[in-house]
Amino acid sequence: MSSAAKHVILPGQTIGILGGGQLGRMMALAGRAMGYRFVVLDPAPDSPAAQVADAQVEADYSDVKAARQLAKEADIITYEFENVDAQVASILSDEAYMPQGSHLLFITQHRIREKQTMEKAGVPVAKWRAVFTFNDLKTVFQESGKRGILKTTRGGYDGKGQWRIVPESRLEDIWNECQPYLRVHGQDEAGPLIYEWLVPFVREISVIVTRGVQGEQSLFPVIENHHQNGILYMSIVPARIPEEAVRLAQQAAVKIADQLQLVGTLAVEMFLTESGEVLVNELAPRPHNSGHLTIEACATSQFEQHIRAICGLPLAENRLLTPAVMVNVLGQHLHPLLEQIDRLPRNVKLHLYGKREPKVHRKMGHLTCLGDIDTALQFIGSSKIWATDSER
Ligand code: ADP
Ligand code: MG
Repeated sequence: MSSAAKHVILPGQTIGILGGGQLGRMMALAGRAMGYRFVVLDPAPDSPAAQVADAQVEADYSDVKAARQLAKEADIITYEFENVDAQVASILSDEAYMPQGSHLLFITQHRIREKQTMEKAGVPVAKWRAVFTFNDLKTVFQESGKRGILKTTRGGYDGKGQWRIVPESRLEDIWNECQPYLRVHGQDEAGPLIYEWLVPFVREISVIVTRGVQGEQSLFPVIENHHQNGILYMSIVPARIPEEAVRLAQQAAVKIADQLQLVGTLAVEMFLTESGEVLVNELAPRPHNSGHLTIEACATSQFEQHIRAICGLPLAENRLLTPAVMVNVLGQHLHPLLEQIDRLPRNVKLHLYGKREPKVHRKMGHLTCLGDIDTALQFIGSSKIWATDSER
């Protein structure tokens, strides 16, 4: 859309968000500060984003009529997740103004298309193969030295839809567990499963990059990420990695953003290996959990930068103001957090997403500890909030 490239959405106009979770909530909080209005599409009444928006269309994400309703109520459309139904994506991009476009969704909602795009951009990725049949799996198991990760090509998140493969793995059992996913995505022309060689990484990092409708770019500082049970546990900025790795990581993010002709915000997850190589793991075409610390740690947050980019405003200065550590508050952490909320250190900033039911592993909020990283890590380690039951 070249005519759209000069489109400016003015404060006072309405931004429609597909998805009503915490990412949408923080987008809306940032955009409201600039005077934008928000309408959110989500099936859950009183969703985290709807609580801070002007209106909600209460319907399923794949509801075509509801997508048209969102398009009618909004002057511009964005999304907070990449697994947007293909028909809904095409309605929103054809009948409404969605500057990020549907191509970005088409690529990032499929791990194989995503890998091929990264290879085209000339960035290194883990060795991989598409897996269609049990025989494919047996072959690649041998080829990879029996260590890898089998992933569904669509719909996976927070470690879901993944199987870690080790020499002792019983491939028959794993293949059986894949069957429900294969029934849904079996006709997939690009492969229903992807097998990746295991990367023996020393650090996981992410780079968040924002690109405006005119192609101008802004990079956030490299963030270091730690996972538990496949879910992001903690992020640290600046990442404690060598200068050269910072350079490689930022270079990879820029190459991918250019390859995708990105508009909006993209998170690039990467591995740093012992030998100093940076391999790209996966992409998220939206603000990212690892970037929540930019709200306080950077001059402009990933959420504000995203709104600026899609609305055609100039991207703002986003330099790092302070080191910071972000820890996720999952369902099981909420009660211990609330018990000591009156005693939290003064450098700790509290974010809760307004979700009512604190289910185990559900993302309820996050804390960002500002200032010295070692002091923050000490607080996190000694606080009872993230202790396992046996540690309490
Ligand atoms: P998602 O975040 O969508 O669940 P990822 O592909 O990011 O899926 O995988 C989740 C986590 O699993 C990664 O953050 C990383 O810790 C681990 N992982 C994924 N792929 C590999 C790989 N090829 N080698 C080593 N570890 C991996
Ligand atoms: Mg990931």
